[in-house]
Amino acid sequence: MAPDQYTMQDPTQQYSDIDTTAQSQAGPGLDSRLKEHADHGEDSYRGSGRLTGRKALITGADSGIGAAVAIAFAREGADVVLSYLPEEEEDARWIVEMIKDAGRKALTVPGDVTDPEYCRRLVDTAVEGLGGLDIVVNNAAKQQFVDKLEDLSEEQFDETFKTNVYAMFWICKAAVPHLTPGSTIINTSSIQAYQPSPGLLDYATTKASINAFSKGLAQQLAPRGIRVNVVAPGPIWTPLQTAGGQPPEELPEFGESTPLGRPGQPAELAPAFVFLASPESSYVSGETLNVNGGSPTP
Ligand code: NAD
Ligand code: MG
Repeated sequence: MAPDQYTMQDPTQQYSDIDTTAQSQAGPGLDSRLKEHADHGEDSYRGSGRLTGRKALITGADSGIGAAVAIAFAREGADVVLSYLPEEEEDARWIVEMIKDAGRKALTVPGDVTDPEYCRRLVDTAVEGLGGLDIVVNNAAKQQFVDKLEDLSEEQFDETFKTNVYAMFWICKAAVPHLTPGSTIINTSSIQAYQPSPGLLDYATTKASINAFSKGLAQQLAPRGIRVNVVAPGPIWTPLQTAGGQPPEELPEFGESTPLGRPGQPAELAPAFVFLASPESSYVSGETLNVNGGSPTP
């Protein structure tokens, strides 16, 4: 049997064949242009009916962590609505194929989450196209490395907040009226929320905001039977990191300072999202699940 997420392996040696190299891309970055492709679990994720019949919306679903989550959700039995930027169509097509191969429905809604109208249309399309909605994953993000505060533009600060925080607010606000008891919201935060890199001031601040928003919303929605949780990744090999997320010269050492000594792959994040989306986490809400190679967290 081919190795899957249940196959015992030495986590320090997993993916030792992938050596990340210095590279950079314009725009949001494409997985198809990564010199070393990320693993979204295409060949390894094995579903077992944990999300049978569920209806999920995932932002940033074309690549990286969102793409791995989309594949896993579909293989666990969920239909998926994918949000991503129009220029990422090429990456999105590949993930749509994977979802269809799993026998599930994939609806694409390309657009810009910094536009509140788009966020509302995204939720409406999901509700109409899937016949309801019960899993919302806010995962899209902007991350641009800037060394000095003096060089951090107001425009970037604003766009980072719009993409990472406002979009989550707009999407949650539009989605909640449709969510029935048992539904779940999962927001993607980061280790940057508690260990901010000096060059990621705006980004790290948005990630701390996501944690606070999620812990508050979890309490607000608990009486309605809706759970809200967070996944906080450490260094994961995705296009984001090559599209201005890190200085290119730092990419060869990316993730090596974690206790496990290597960057993570998107495929290693998917099981955390599946757990929080499925009823097996029924007594878990307001929680942050850190998937970061073993770095201590508060
Ligand atoms: P990624 O580039 O593959 O995914 C991010 C996605 O965000 C893009 O694919 C894009 O579709 C979407 N996006 C960005 N701006 C958008 C906009 N204006 N409108 C619509 N969509 C937009 O990178 P990733 O690393 O998989 O990122 C996924 C999440 O993981 C993000 O929330 C990121 O902050 C978080 N994260 C990543 C890392 C890491 O090391 N890669 C670490 C911690 C947290
Ligand atoms: Mg992308």
